[in-house]
Amino acid sequence: MDQESWQKSEELIYEIEDSLDELLDSPELKELRSKIAELGRQLGERYSVGLNCIVDIMDWEKDQSLQLLNTGISTNDTGDTGRTWNSASFQKYVVNGEIQIVPHDHCPGCWGDWLFKSENTTCPECGIELGKECKILLDTDECPHCEKGKLSMNDTKCDQCGYSIDPKYVVWG
Ligand SMILES: [Zn+2]
Ligand SMILES: [Zn+2]
Repeated sequence: MDQESWQKSEELIYEIEDSLDELLDSPELKELRSKIAELGRQLGERYSVGLNCIVDIMDWEKDQSLQLLNTGISTNDTGDTGRTWNSASFQKYVVNGEIQIVPHDHCPGCWGDWLFKSENTTCPECGIELGKECKILLDTDECPHCEKGKLSMNDTKCDQCGYSIDPKYVVWG
């Protein structure tokens, strides 16, 4: 989404994430969790049962949708349920001169799935190319790969995970 929409929504997205976490772990859902666990046990080891909470946005003008959050509950091999975590994590890009913010693994241009951008440098859905129409916008020194380590314009290798960012893929904010 564009920068203006992002600024209006960022805080609320993280609040929604917290509320969902609270809800999924709450005593009110105990019965639901135990029924999901029961279903998992009845189906046996071959299957896992999941309950997913997806928050997405739909852009009616471009007719495309984007998943912002995906979290839930799933059964595990101990016959119980655990939380599935897919916490909100977003990346800024510059696409054709405009700042766009989308979750990792998505295309900032068409919102389609685009995984491992530094290896697959062309969006499989719309064909924009990393390093050409699309660049990663880094306005912090946080590593876009592990989000824990640090890297910078002068030292493009992450001090934690060792990920090295190709300067031609990046715009420094
Ligand atoms: Zn695309
Ligand atoms: Zn890193």
